Amino acid sequence: MTTHAPQAAQSVTLPASLDEAVAALTAMPAAVPVAGGTDLMASVNSGQLRPAALVGLGRISEIRGWQYQDGNALLGAGLTHARMGRPDFAALIPALAAAARAAGPPQIRNAGTLGGNIVTAAPTGDTLPVLAAMEATLVIAGPGGARRETPVSHLLAGRDMLGAGELIGFVRVPLLHAPQVFFKATGRTGPGRATASVALVLDPARREVRCAVGAIAPMPLRPLEAERWIASLIEWDADRKLAPEACAAFGEYVAAACIPDPAPADGAEAALPPAVLHLRRTVAALARRALGRALS
Ligand SMILES: Cc1cc2nc3c(=O)[nH]c(=O)nc-3n(C[C@H](O)[C@H](O)[C@H](O)COP(=O)(O)OP(=O)(O)OC[C@H]3O[C@@H](n4cnc5c(N)ncnc54)[C@H](O)[C@@H]3O)c2cc1C
Repeated sequence: MTTHAPQAAQSVTLPASLDEAVAALTAMPAAVPVAGGTDLMASVNSGQLRPAALVGLGRISEIRGWQYQDGNALLGAGLTHARMGRPDFAALIPALAAAARAAGPPQIRNAGTLGGNIVTAAPTGDTLPVLAAMEATLVIAGPGGARRETPVSHLLAGRDMLGAGELIGFVRVPLLHAPQVFFKATGRTGPGRATASVALVLDPARREVRCAVGAIAPMPLRPLEAERWIASLIEWDADRKLAPEACAAFGEYVAAACIPDPAPADGAEAALPPAVLHLRRTVAALARRALGRALS
């Protein structure tokens, strides 16, 4: 790892296991974990962050792959976007693979990890709406070999933060064996940060459609009423087809739930500014297309 920071970290520890990494962080409370470094080193290089020490997670092989456990995929936090974008992973969790393929240019995808994407918790984090729609949970490693689980959405909402010495070890994602989609809109052609994104998954066992909208708020938004309404229209035991008008209405419903009309001011109708209206149309189009693709 290299840095152009004027004040680089005083020490870099490279543990070989999750518990060793937790022990290193516990022994050096001022140390900061670093995985791919794509977010962290940007903060160091811009002078926003001056970590006294770094604990590198790149040599911990146990968090760089995945395994199956009770109908779930247990994904290592050290999985890179490039690895998640490969066909074998796409066969497992297609929406997460699509998000990983969309996460920045190739050099970023080669280094950037799932765990780093979650902890950075940027509104534009591409894996986040997928994890929200999948209702994924985090397996957090703590001092003394402790493990605890919390929903990804709790961490993103700040309801449950990582404690001292804690690291994300794994992400537990239910395997749904049904169509799932991730679409992202950017402000330019080629790799770019999302201006809006939509993840949509079908869960036939629970007869649910789950949808999360990313990039338009500090954390992914779930339009729960729109989800329930569209799920009630689907004939789950038949061909699961819907008329294009229903898909379009779902898109509008999702967009209006996530970007509501402003409250009337002084009794007069208030209008959304043109840029926000454009964003709402973008969300509507992404949600409509995502549903259409999932049902096709
Ligand atoms: C040019 C560029 C373009 C980008 N484009 C996109 C994009 O289109 N979409 C997108 O989603 N992201 C994008 N990113 C952001 C970035 O690549 C991702 O957020 C990436 O997934 C971060 O992972 P990392 O391993 O590099 O994290 P790091 O930079 O190593 O760490 C980020 C934060 O997470 C913490 N951390 C890392 N792993 C763990 C763990 N296991 N447990 C606890 N804490 C941990 C670190 O301490 C740090 O606070 C871009 C970044 C750059 C520089």
